[in-house]
Amino acid sequence: MLSRRKALKSLSSLPFIGGLFGGGLINSEALGQHITGPVARDLFKELGIRTFINAAGTYTAMTGSLMPEEVTSAITYGANDYVNLDELQDKVGERIAQLLECEYATVTSGAFGAMTIGLAGVVSGMDPEKVKQLPNTDGLKNEVIVQEGHNIGYIHALLNVGVKIIFIKTSKELEKAINDKTAMLWFLNANTAEGEIKYEEWVKLGKKHNIPTFIDCAADVPPAENLFKFTKMGFDLVCFSGGKGLRGPQSAGLLLGKREYIEAARLHTPPRGETIARGMKVNKEEVLGMLVALEMYLAKDHKKEWAFWEKQIELISNSALSVKGVKTEIHVPDYANHVPSLRIKWDQKVIKITPEEFRERLRTGHPSIETVGNEEMVGITTWMMRPGQERIVARRVKEVLENG
Ligand SMILES: *Cc1c(COP(=O)(O)O)cnc(C)c1O
Repeated sequence: MLSRRKALKSLSSLPFIGGLFGGGLINSEALGQHITGPVARDLFKELGIRTFINAAGTYTAMTGSLMPEEVTSAITYGANDYVNLDELQDKVGERIAQLLECEYATVTSGAFGAMTIGLAGVVSGMDPEKVKQLPNTDGLKNEVIVQEGHNIGYIHALLNVGVKIIFIKTSKELEKAINDKTAMLWFLNANTAEGEIKYEEWVKLGKKHNIPTFIDCAADVPPAENLFKFTKMGFDLVCFSGGKGLRGPQSAGLLLGKREYIEAARLHTPPRGETIARGMKVNKEEVLGMLVALEMYLAKDHKKEWAFWEKQIELISNSALSVKGVKTEIHVPDYANHVPSLRIKWDQKVIKITPEEFRERLRTGHPSIETVGNEEMVGITTWMMRPGQERIVARRVKEVLENG
């Protein structure tokens, strides 16, 4: 009887069948590996990288969120055919605008990319010469007004366009700062509490002076209403991260709002090359993944999901509380990462371990668990875990608190 290897060898000598089988199969046979179908490679393991349970939240350093299978299927689907990139973005933009009941939308390279191209579109309008001119803003509107309390590192996305940030505190200061160079008024939802001027007034001031307003809502899903609220309120542009609560591709995001600004923003993006955002590319895989992630998010039972998170947090909290000297606090941040969250504290005279050491124990244990924290407490959320992992976290938290 012909051995399998010989059979394959003789088959491969026939050009058609050899081609049909593909080189991979024959080569693996030659190496003595018996591969009969596509084999999933454990790439992280091959690279010597440990995966971990994410009990921390949506952090870029931890690679954001996990995508549902429907989203990864959309990505794989997209990887198998060519389409015209602009046509895809046009159609997906219309579909997202319809889903979110706003004028227009586009898939961006994250919320950061949305901030850059959104502002670039405002500054250039549809003038191709101005598009090319950026980040040189000579002769163009090049000042963006931001409240002092809304100053975070991510405003670098605005600086990319070549503008200057003008910080103000009060509406009086804002109106005094406005001049014929003012391009945009930028608002950070996460820091709403830190600014004197709130949404409605911000939008009103923008309309009064005919200056577009932008709100960064990168980490503000949930609640799902936020996807609709700010465009309806009158913000001209709104951005969200694709790879945080929406669970789309981590390198994607959404820019929603006025068609005139989003069409101008698109002029800065690939395939066009003589632009500041050529490096902020999103290809068909991310565009489709983002669309499907959004559809899935809108269709989900948010109340049920919330109740599940509460149960998970309670389980971990109770497990920690079973150790003497431990105190916990369950809270929900008002703005950004608005999900049930846990703080664990303990009497460090009774339990002789610092929060830093505690977190290191969880990180180096089996399985590895990532948390957040400071010198006084350890912070845990469950929304980025795979369901069921809360039981492992509950057990490990108790073990480390008991044994140090
Ligand atoms: C995460 C975040 C960003 C950046 O979002 P990406 O989608 O990672 O580009 C911008 N602003 C705020 C407030 C954020 O939380």
